[in-house]
Amino acid sequence: MAIAPGTHPHRQHLADSDSAVFDLIKKEENRQEHNLELIASENIASLAVREAGMSVFTDKYAEGYPGKRYYGGCEFSDDVERLAIERVCQLFGAEAANVQPHSGANANMAVYFTFMNPGDTLMAMNLDHGGHLTHGSPVNFSGKLYNVAAYGVDSESERIDYDEMHRIAVESKPKIIVSGATAYSREFDFARIRQIADEVGAIHMCDISHYSGLVAAGVYPNPVPHCHVVTSTTHKSIRGPRGGVILGHEDYIKKINKTVFPGLQGGPLMHIIAAKAVAFAEASKPEFKTYGAQVKKNASALAKSLTDEGFRIVSGGTDSHMMLVDLRPFNVTGKIAQEVLEHANITTNKNTIPNDPESPFVTSGLRLGTPAVTTRGMVESDMPTIARAISTVLGNPDSLPGIE
Ligand SMILES: *Cc1c(COP(=O)(O)O)cnc(C)c1O
Repeated sequence: MAIAPGTHPHRQHLADSDSAVFDLIKKEENRQEHNLELIASENIASLAVREAGMSVFTDKYAEGYPGKRYYGGCEFSDDVERLAIERVCQLFGAEAANVQPHSGANANMAVYFTFMNPGDTLMAMNLDHGGHLTHGSPVNFSGKLYNVAAYGVDSESERIDYDEMHRIAVESKPKIIVSGATAYSREFDFARIRQIADEVGAIHMCDISHYSGLVAAGVYPNPVPHCHVVTSTTHKSIRGPRGGVILGHEDYIKKINKTVFPGLQGGPLMHIIAAKAVAFAEASKPEFKTYGAQVKKNASALAKSLTDEGFRIVSGGTDSHMMLVDLRPFNVTGKIAQEVLEHANITTNKNTIPNDPESPFVTSGLRLGTPAVTTRGMVESDMPTIARAISTVLGNPDSLPGIE
């Protein structure tokens, strides 16, 4: 006997069954609607991505990989995972992929665990110059398990110093060299980094968590041809569901597969893998090329407008979707700037700038990005308005309520 929707407790909509959580979702929806979202790592997933992400695949256990599962009833899980793999390989020109990592951090962990032992040397970008937590922070597993050799930017140009990187690699003999970053707005010279990796016998892993949407759109260099392995999140500029992915040569991915499962994770999030498949197809459409190009144009326009307002942009500009703003000309810290901008419904995050005199909790900078505002339809001519709003707020931080 079929149960009529809305009568059985299991068939009730959230609004009827749990008003506390329903109200919070509505509040978050409202917050997103009324805020100017400038956090560089955020975006707005499509309705199609969200539909797949909350689909009945959430019910399915599918430990293992397509064709080699530990549970019955996996025929459609196999098909959807194969589709996600096929689409992401096509999108980035990769030989093979693992679409199961639950997050970007898990993807990096899987690569490190596959190719390094505790005590081995990991080389990655200095966290104060733009590297991610998982690139060797002392409070993260990457900094606790491995000996970390960091490269950074030249203090004058604020761009990566490749001669210095080469020197550090020769000296420290890393097992893995990580390119990619979380707060570096310029292009990486992936070919040069591969050369350095080959010279010292290291694996070149690129973490394109931030840049993957731009790479897919063809407006940022694709590291795949210059890497052994490439990792990414799926929820930043590429605009998919929250998660991770690993790309690479077949023989590398085969080893990594064993680390992801059974090494690190149990059952894959099949609903999220379905949503990843949807996002990868969206990112391969001509509209996404237009979107990615607009994200980059908007970032350049915003950097220029902020410069006109009197801010200093680290390295003088951007080649991507993001920029680091040096707030010292306005005599305000990153911590205060983030707070006062939030009162004005502008969402940002404080960020250290290279050689920051302030602590990572206070900082002298803000990181801004354009993926979310571009999804909402903004273009270059909107950027001076945003820059003016930021400069008005930061020029008068005391005029806002609630700030000590
Ligand atoms: C965001 C990010 C990650 C981590 O992604 P999570 O999904 O938050 O774990 C890893 N590396 C870089 C470079 C990132 O920007």
